[in-house]
Amino acid sequence: MSFIHSIKFRFTIWYLLVLAVLLIALSAGVYFYLSRSLYQSLDDSLELRSTQLRSIPAILESIKQGEFEEELGEIVILYFYTDSQLVEVSARGISIPLSDEFISQAIAGTSSFTTIPTAEGERLRLLVVPVNLGQPSLLIIARSTKQIDQALHGLVHTLIIAVPLALALAAGGGIFLARRALKPVDEIAQTAQEIGEGDLSRRINVNTKDELGRLAATLNAMIGRLEKAFQRQKQFTSDASHELRAPLAVIEAESTLALQKERPSSDYQQSLEVISQESKQMSSLIDQLLTLARADAGKEQWNFTEVNLGKLISNLSTDIEVLCQEKGLSFQLGQMRDLVVKGDEARLRELFMNLLDNAISYTPSPGTVSVSFHSEGQMAVVAITDTGVGIPAEDIPFIFERFYRVDKSRSRAEGGSGLGLAICRHIAEAHGGKIEVESQVGAGSTFSVWLPLQSP
Ligand code: ADP
Repeated sequence: MSFIHSIKFRFTIWYLLVLAVLLIALSAGVYFYLSRSLYQSLDDSLELRSTQLRSIPAILESIKQGEFEEELGEIVILYFYTDSQLVEVSARGISIPLSDEFISQAIAGTSSFTTIPTAEGERLRLLVVPVNLGQPSLLIIARSTKQIDQALHGLVHTLIIAVPLALALAAGGGIFLARRALKPVDEIAQTAQEIGEGDLSRRINVNTKDELGRLAATLNAMIGRLEKAFQRQKQFTSDASHELRAPLAVIEAESTLALQKERPSSDYQQSLEVISQESKQMSSLIDQLLTLARADAGKEQWNFTEVNLGKLISNLSTDIEVLCQEKGLSFQLGQMRDLVVKGDEARLRELFMNLLDNAISYTPSPGTVSVSFHSEGQMAVVAITDTGVGIPAEDIPFIFERFYRVDKSRSRAEGGSGLGLAICRHIAEAHGGKIEVESQVGAGSTFSVWLPLQSP
């Protein structure tokens, strides 16, 4: 990115513009204030001088005679009438070009100041005061404005150099500060680029407590979540392929063995049974994978209706009883309460079927699987309890994760994929509920499903 298109450049330009306007306004203010004060003090000194000169008649007389000794840098001129003739007297014989009109106006009126240019290209500040020498007369005291003009020119020259110099220094400082302040942005961009190239373990190294520090912390947290999500996805893909490979390997081995030579039909039947069993397991795994893929994509279609949980479990109980009998377990269905929730009946059936299936799978004979119902506040609670193998405490936090199995060989032998509980939790959460587990190794487990009751 070129410097011209950077925020640093825009920052600096705006900052310089504001500073330039301020400096120019300040310089103009100083110039006008100084010029006013200097001219004011010159006028004051002229006024003081005129008062001095007018207060002593002998001085006026000496001016009239052309014998008055002027101070350095001052010109004193007297206009007076003699024989109705206006006479101009000055000690050094200097004449000041004043129009007749101005002089007669001044003689008739009050004192006034004026500034006139001289032949030498300078300027004179004049105080014109009427005096009384028997006849109306005019005293002019003039002083050169050279010193004031020089001081003001000096100021202008200083400002002409100082303002651009200050702006240049400010530009340098501004770029330096903008670079320093925005350095984290470059780091953020650099890290984001590296992450874009596939390294999600990178983090932005900005530890300031300002806005950019907060932005970096937020981005780091987001990258952390992305990293975990990618890791989960990777793990999921590798677990899924592993899970699919196992039954495929069995099918391949079984069919290769069967085809190796001529065999009795009972052997073929046995092989086909194994193949059929493995195919069913694969098919159920693929169904579960599709369910989770749809859940992840948010593309599930829910058909929410009023569902009576007691009736739903009661409808399942015939199948459950059969499964329990097959395994030598007893099944107890607790007193059914009128717990009505708003839910997708088919998905809730899938949820309870999975939990009951697990309870039967992980309970050795003789044992009991039971279902109880109650409500707590606005929640319906269905608890599925077994007297089975139980789950070690250290595994409990993970059993709802995809493909997590406490005892892998046992679970696979039971036909489990390790996806059942992940699907159960997803269904419960999609209904605004949750699943809780309490378990003790060797004593059994209780899975409690909490679902919001339908408000009346
Ligand atoms: P699976 O298909 O392997 O049963 P699940 O996701 O349903 O997968 O369960 C995950 C793991 O949790 C199981 O492998 C098992 O170890 C444990 N588990 C689930 N339900 C029970 C239970 N009722 N009793 C003991 N262990 C259980």
